[in-house]
Amino acid sequence: MSEGRLLMIAAPSGAGKSSLVSAFLARHPDWTLSISTTTRPPRPGEQHGREYFFTSSEAFIRQRNAGEFLEWAEVHGNFYGTSREWIQSQRAARRSVILEIDWQGARQIRETFSDPGRVPRSVFILPPSLSELEARLRARGQDTEEVIQRRLAAAAEEMSHAEEFDYVIINQDFSVALRDLEAFVSRSWPAGASD
Ligand code: 5GP
Repeated sequence: MSEGRLLMIAAPSGAGKSSLVSAFLARHPDWTLSISTTTRPPRPGEQHGREYFFTSSEAFIRQRNAGEFLEWAEVHGNFYGTSREWIQSQRAARRSVILEIDWQGARQIRETFSDPGRVPRSVFILPPSLSELEARLRARGQDTEEVIQRRLAAAAEEMSHAEEFDYVIINQDFSVALRDLEAFVSRSWPAGASD
């Protein structure tokens, strides 16, 4: 079985990426999720070290300047970054890692891993339509109209980068999307092949 695989998954907010990734991880314990560092404040229910490592802008910038992030980006006014050391240790141990990152981070990772034998794969998750995305954002019931409009504009911008990814999954039906993701992973790293 191939190991040391690196899978990047991006999506606009509201596309259902986190639920898909959670379901995938629950069914495939050989994969592990990279926990990013962010300056975004925790949402209710989020825990430091579980969803993210929450930090201040000052600390983030210090870490960034020290080269501690393999990739980093500013998304919706907050910083997000992936730990270089953690990814390197996982790769060295040939463990398979999922990165939930935006298109800017995915670009940086593609540039970093130029070794053709260890190419990271990438998937973009799309909502069925913009109107469905809007309905999902409204259904959360957490955001003001202004915030919803801002998220929709950000979603359109994120989606304009979908074609930079190896594969696009439309999350219309959750179980179909999950099977689609599993099939992509199997195709990308056939059993017995080395990554
Ligand atoms: P949220 O704040 O809703 O959890 O995430 C907002 C966006 O930031 C999502 O598109 C998510 O994929 C992206 N993101 C989360 N962690 C990272 C990271 O480490 N690097 C980059 N480039 N984007 C990230």
